[in-house]
Amino acid sequence: MSKYDRVYNFSAGPSMLPVEVLEKVQKDLLNYGGSGQSVMEMSHRSKDFKKIIDDAEADLRELMNIPDNYKVLFLQGGGTLQFAMVPLNLLRNSRKADYVITGTWAKKAYKEACKFGDIKAAASSEEDTFTWVPKITKEDIRPDADYVYITTNNTIYGTKYNYIPETGDVPLVADMSSNILSEEVDVTKFGLIWAGAQKNVGPAGVTIVIVREDLIGHAPADHIPTYLDYKIQAENGSMYNTPPCFSIYVAGEVFKYLKSIGGIKEMERRNREKAAMLYDYIDSSSLYKSPVAKEDRSLMNVVFVTGDADLDKKFVAEAKEAGLVNLSGHRSIGGMRASIYNAMPKEGVETLISFMKKFEEENK
Ligand SMILES: *Cc1c(COP(=O)(O)O)cnc(C)c1O
Repeated sequence: MSKYDRVYNFSAGPSMLPVEVLEKVQKDLLNYGGSGQSVMEMSHRSKDFKKIIDDAEADLRELMNIPDNYKVLFLQGGGTLQFAMVPLNLLRNSRKADYVITGTWAKKAYKEACKFGDIKAAASSEEDTFTWVPKITKEDIRPDADYVYITTNNTIYGTKYNYIPETGDVPLVADMSSNILSEEVDVTKFGLIWAGAQKNVGPAGVTIVIVREDLIGHAPADHIPTYLDYKIQAENGSMYNTPPCFSIYVAGEVFKYLKSIGGIKEMERRNREKAAMLYDYIDSSSLYKSPVAKEDRSLMNVVFVTGDADLDKKFVAEAKEAGLVNLSGHRSIGGMRASIYNAMPKEGVETLISFMKKFEEENK
């Protein structure tokens, strides 16, 4: 880190990228692969860009073990547009869908979907400020629902699903914006997975959608805006119009980097190690507390408090001075949040723990 005088950035998103990837992007910036141009200046119909997007898709398929009967799309509009695209495309028979409300993003998705069909909150942990994740079973789901919707990692509250709900024949849809590629997942358990890139994949501007083929092509063509139809996007290889070329290219470099370190298995090992170090310290400390149920703790977003709002503010300010930035909790809940996505090195977490110990000593 010191080579470039960089800070440890604990931002929830946009967030850190691996230095190796940034160096590669820097090296390619003015002349990508001998093309004489930057990727930013390149036609999306060029041979060079075609290879960039094809390789990105192939590498993502390899990393996540995505079966052939799933389409991989690179779209724009961020996570927020998926809140609408999912119901617009997937409400296709009963026009019913069941949502599990585990945080702000899940709630936004639910509210957006309510504009389009008969949407039910199947379970919620809102009464406990989303500090745990409901265990839902088939009995909680309407058997004729067109899909069930979950948010596998709750960025603001620091919780994650440690199980995949059993939904029988009802397709499971997951917002994986803040934990995609952080641990191994069985894609076949899902009908659709989507994730905005800016948390764990690359720069903002591209959203990944992984969707089972039989779930697309049911949106009424005379009603759905063309861009929002997964079928149109799939038929055109995410190039119905100009895609977010540069974001796709950087995401592709992140996929190559992940392959080079040993894939998602190795990434998960590192993430579990980093999170365990931080939670173990928080649990052993007399100053800091984690508000989250132990079995539901996120590997990516570690939320903690001192119990004193002024002391929390002091912590965040002094941490910043020490080169540990963006540690304040989401504006809706306060406290602290350390987002330790894939690109946060182990040394960043060690440095944070040393700082926390020093702060605890000084503020007894
Ligand atoms: C950040 C985030 C979103 C929203 O993403 P935008 O790209 O800003 O619309 C949705 N869901 C989760 C879980 C997130 O972390």
